[in-house]
Amino acid sequence: MKRHSAFTLAQQALRGHKDWPQTWAKGTLKPKYDAVVIGGGGHGLATAYYLAKTHGITRVAVLEKGWIGGGNTGRNTTVIRSNYFYPESVALYDLALRLYEGLSRELNYNIMLSQRGMLIAAHTPAQMEICARIANAMQINGVDGRLMDAQEATRRVPLANQSADARYRLTGGIWQDRAGVARHDAVAWGYARAASALGVDIIENCEVIDIIVEAGCVTGVETTHGRVKTSALGLATAGATTGLTAPHGISLPIQTYALQAFVSEPVKPVLDTVLLYLGTGTYLSQSDKGELVIGGGLDRVPTHGKTGNLPMQEQIISGLLEMFPAFGQLKLLRQWAGVVDVVPDSSPILGPAGPKGLFLNCGWGTGGFKAIPAGGTLLAHMLATGGHHDISRPFDLTRFITGRLIDEAAGSGIAH
Ligand SMILES: Cc1cc2nc3c(=O)[nH]c(=O)nc-3n(C[C@H](O)[C@H](O)[C@H](O)COP(=O)(O)OP(=O)(O)OC[C@H]3O[C@@H](n4cnc5c(N)ncnc54)[C@H](O)[C@@H]3O)c2cc1C
Repeated sequence: MKRHSAFTLAQQALRGHKDWPQTWAKGTLKPKYDAVVIGGGGHGLATAYYLAKTHGITRVAVLEKGWIGGGNTGRNTTVIRSNYFYPESVALYDLALRLYEGLSRELNYNIMLSQRGMLIAAHTPAQMEICARIANAMQINGVDGRLMDAQEATRRVPLANQSADARYRLTGGIWQDRAGVARHDAVAWGYARAASALGVDIIENCEVIDIIVEAGCVTGVETTHGRVKTSALGLATAGATTGLTAPHGISLPIQTYALQAFVSEPVKPVLDTVLLYLGTGTYLSQSDKGELVIGGGLDRVPTHGKTGNLPMQEQIISGLLEMFPAFGQLKLLRQWAGVVDVVPDSSPILGPAGPKGLFLNCGWGTGGFKAIPAGGTLLAHMLATGGHHDISRPFDLTRFITGRLIDEAAGSGIAH
């Protein structure tokens, strides 16, 4: 993989930036691969990278029906954190956070990781008790997290609405130092570049239409570019996963909903943490360009639409104005939605499903960006070894039969 120095950067600048090499090669689809990953989002690309790098399996294709990072990976609000409740979740999300911490160096690609800390803000004594419970669980699980009091919280977020008539005054909350944001496109592009350099074929505009199964084993996929043989198939297709598995009798407990986000016009620095209000579900951070990146809760009407709708926009923006009345003067520059794949216990599905050789990485719902390095590591492990990694085992599909759910919505009550 080509590494750049200050000298090559200056050289390119003097040449008018005309000679930059292609970041990843446009692969040509081959008739057969050792492993195929469907979905060129963060999870699919990370899987291909770790297959090649960790397991030495380089005859790998990533098949993407659109362009890489064009799904939820390029639509999210980029919050990364590991402030979960259950030990299984903490093991998963903290693995991801630790990998994120070294990722720019590992991929030689600046993912613009900014560990600016995150405050999950409480407003009542009851919410403070819930926060204390989560902070204690985090500490028991070995993750940096602590309860923050009202005084420190208001110091961290000086513009927060603490007026006498505020509906949700800050009483404190949970603080995680290592939480923050990373540039979403860069995560997809960095993994793509590194996987491509190791020999992985990344094929865009190539939709998988069906999975080919013979005698109970995966033998390949049918695509818009023709048939491809493989005996190890990974699905990293988020909300589209059910459409691929259902024809093979695999029914998944996934429901798809629209999740919206917004970006304001850029302003001078006003917020140097990630902030989420438990009272409204609205959360935000400020991008390096100065824009406020704003998100909120799910619209619980199942859909595959990517536009979003006015009732949720009003709810999220009124939550923002409750937090910061002054932001009522800002203009919104953009609004968009993504189709998120939500599972009843708000935890992902990782593991084998149906025919031998088929493995799933889906169900990340509103919070899978932060998990990309771990999701890729774990799916790569399953494709390479045919079995679970210790960290992925609790997230197996069988939990919906055994009842050993990992109900993070109930445990931590926070998404994104
Ligand atoms: C508005 C919004 C805000 C969010 N905020 C956060 C956040 O702050 N933090 C966080 O951690 N998470 C967040 N998320 C969730 C996060 O974006 C997702 O969980 C994560 O990006 C999922 O990554 P993925 O690789 O699984 O899916 P995707 O990025 O959606 O990739 C799946 C890919 O599969 C492709 N595909 C589907 N079917 C086929 C097929 N048949 N053949 C070929 N290709 C196919 C799609 O085109 C797509 O590119 C947010 C999501 C949204 C929508």
